[in-house]
Amino acid sequence: MENYINQLRNYHLKATPQRIAITEALAMYGHLSIEQLYEVLKQKFNSLSLATIYKNINIMMENAFVSEVKLPEQKSVYELTKASHAHLQCKKCHNVWDIHLNLDDIIQNASKNSTFEIESANLVLSGLCENCRNEK
Ligand SMILES: [Zn+2]
Ligand SMILES: [Zn+2]
Repeated sequence: MENYINQLRNYHLKATPQRIAITEALAMYGHLSIEQLYEVLKQKFNSLSLATIYKNINIMMENAFVSEVKLPEQKSVYELTKASHAHLQCKKCHNVWDIHLNLDDIIQNASKNSTFEIESANLVLSGLCENCRNEK
């Protein structure tokens, strides 16, 4: 907990109890949507609303402490900002995992093959996770 307070302060964010709880939940689960964060946090804070979580996440994104992961055909999930990586998305359970691919390599290759000036990459690979594959 002390650790999360320091992390928030390193990003110039006031360490409010809700922000500490959001940080804790993202550290534990990896990727969560606003609704999932609400489910995790509502036991702790009785006056919590989706709007409050949304507001906090937005401030945490402005300070680059939290990043949004945009997903095809499902709502965005949020994660604590890490080194650049790609994501795996399960079509069945809708869980999201990190996959360590070097996006700089992909951007470099893409730049060689086009006249486009590429600024960023958001790569989501979709399929079935091991659990869902074994459930048939
Ligand atoms: Zn799955
Ligand atoms: Zn991630």
